[in-house]
Amino acid sequence: MDIDAGLHREAHKQEKTDNIPLPNERTTVWLDNKKLAHFDKHELYSAVHGRAYAHPTDKQTWSCLKFWQNREQLTDRALTNIHWHALGKAFRKYPNGKQRWLVKHETGQCGVGRMHLRRKYQDHSQCPRCGQTDETTQHILQCQATSATTEWNIRITSLSNWLTKYRTNTFLHTAILQRLQEWRTSGILRIPLSRLPLPLSFSGWWSG
Ligand SMILES: [Zn+2]
Repeated sequence: MDIDAGLHREAHKQEKTDNIPLPNERTTVWLDNKKLAHFDKHELYSAVHGRAYAHPTDKQTWSCLKFWQNREQLTDRALTNIHWHALGKAFRKYPNGKQRWLVKHETGQCGVGRMHLRRKYQDHSQCPRCGQTDETTQHILQCQATSATTEWNIRITSLSNWLTKYRTNTFLHTAILQRLQEWRTSGILRIPLSRLPLPLSFSGWWSG
């Protein structure tokens, strides 16, 4: 009997059984419909950023980067011009709550009119400031209502002060602010791209 029990235990050790969610668990992490028993950073990272067998038409198998490149129609060049490391470093300096908010805002999933309508929290998608339909996170920045412009100017002044504090190249300083302003009002680009000291083309920089 002891031998049987031992063999039985041994056989069970070899079996791979799925982890089941427990009622007292506050947070669980799932990957490919399987609950993880522990938080394996490397496994999760490769699952998100570098799937080994991506299928061209199956978005479920795409990496996060490929998904967003496709959704926002970003060129390969635009992706390589983004300083991911610096962005990651700056992002991690935010408190957890702000990190969560920023991810929702940048992916367009926070409480804007479009999402409120889609989630049936309200029966319209209008911007509360200017009344435009289909309010998105991008519209929040580009809204031309007076109160929105006031908020924008406060933030731009703050950014300008920061750039001065860290002795940013004057030309670069001006170019950054000017491009932001032009992007907001969809105006013409007064500084030709060829004269910019860095690849400051903001085409395709928005993920909203
Ligand atoms: Zn608006």
